[in-house]
Amino acid sequence: MVKVEKVNIMDIEFVNTTKETLLTKHLFPILLNQQKCFIVTANPEIVMKAQEDQNYKQTVQQAHYIVPDGIGIIYAAKYLGTPLTERIAGFDLVLDLLKFANEKKLNVYFLGARDEVNQKATKKVKEKYPDINIVGAHHGFFDLEDSTVVESVKDANPDLILVALGFPKQEEWICKYMDDFEKGLFIGVGGSFDVLAGEVKRAPDIWIKLNLEWFYRLIKQPFRIKRIVKVFQFMFKV
Ligand code: UDP
Repeated sequence: MVKVEKVNIMDIEFVNTTKETLLTKHLFPILLNQQKCFIVTANPEIVMKAQEDQNYKQTVQQAHYIVPDGIGIIYAAKYLGTPLTERIAGFDLVLDLLKFANEKKLNVYFLGARDEVNQKATKKVKEKYPDINIVGAHHGFFDLEDSTVVESVKDANPDLILVALGFPKQEEWICKYMDDFEKGLFIGVGGSFDVLAGEVKRAPDIWIKLNLEWFYRLIKQPFRIKRIVKVFQFMFKV
């Protein structure tokens, strides 16, 4: 694996590079060479969870690439005097990986979200990226110990495995089972299937440019207030 510069925030080592470089120099070659890789797209809530739970911290630390998702991480890095090049939103990474998978006709597995959301998301992906080989899909409401799910993923021989179980479950699932696989790029993608399915709208570009995506999500989903409180706790701790 090609080396990448890192920035440490509370024991979590974030990759310090642009999305473009991460994709072209790292992730695309990994996919083409059929290597194995684990990516965490970490926001302040994930860093806080890792602070509070040693097991989860160790799980996240197993990742080959920890990507700074969330503007709070960018502000924290700047404040600590080790600025990060840019925020890399998990959802943007998902779209670029799907585009590449379409160009190269790769095998993709969709694991996670509610059953109807999962089906809707894969249907939309099929329409938009017809050359992707969707080798399997499974909803995300199963027990972590349930090995039938991992067996079905393995049998499908995927190149790219999108794991949308929310944190910490998605990282725990990847960490627990990745050794059983010969190849595959595993990435925890949180609520991305809900957006792909059209169930949740992403903030308009102008909000994203102004670094206010978090605020847009809060207005649309006020129950997320608890998570925003975590972000402020994180900033305070930094
Ligand atoms: N989810 C799941 N299994 C679970 C818990 C959650 O598949 O046991 C799904 C949930 O349906 C949603 C996603 O995981 O699609 C989590 O979305 P959220 O917006 O909370 O994640 P974030 O992007 O903020 O990490």
